[in-house]
Amino acid sequence: MNCIFCKIAENKVPARIIYQDDEILAFHDIAPQAPYHVLLIPRKHISTLNDAEESDTEILGKILLRSQLIAAQLGLSESGYRLVMNCNKNGGQSIYHIHCHLLGGRRMHWPPG
Ligand code: 5GP
Ligand code: ZN
Repeated sequence: MNCIFCKIAENKVPARIIYQDDEILAFHDIAPQAPYHVLLIPRKHISTLNDAEESDTEILGKILLRSQLIAAQLGLSESGYRLVMNCNKNGGQSIYHIHCHLLGGRRMHWPPG
């Protein structure tokens, strides 16, 4: 499968990885939209949130809990941060391997663009 995030997870494409375990990988976004912009992905290829299944419940929960951990490691817990998961065209998804954006280090706008 020609998926850039699978290749990052397999160490075939370099990335600034800041966290990894058996199921989850986190690395800095190549085009940061905030002072801190990290992407969390499951090692398992899931194209969009629409494709996640009941059996993915644990991995989806872990993405949130690892976001909490990484935010703490980056010193963002108290100031705050935003998690975003884009789905398909209207959601603004450009890479079709699910990922959670962790953005912090500045005040986020609402509503989002
Ligand atoms: P999406 O638009 O799908 O929600 O987010 C994809 C994100 O992946 C974008 O923020 C983009 O900058 C980032 N990205 C795309 N290709 C690469 C890459 O090769 N390496 C890294 N680290 N980030 C990437
Ligand atoms: Zn993939």
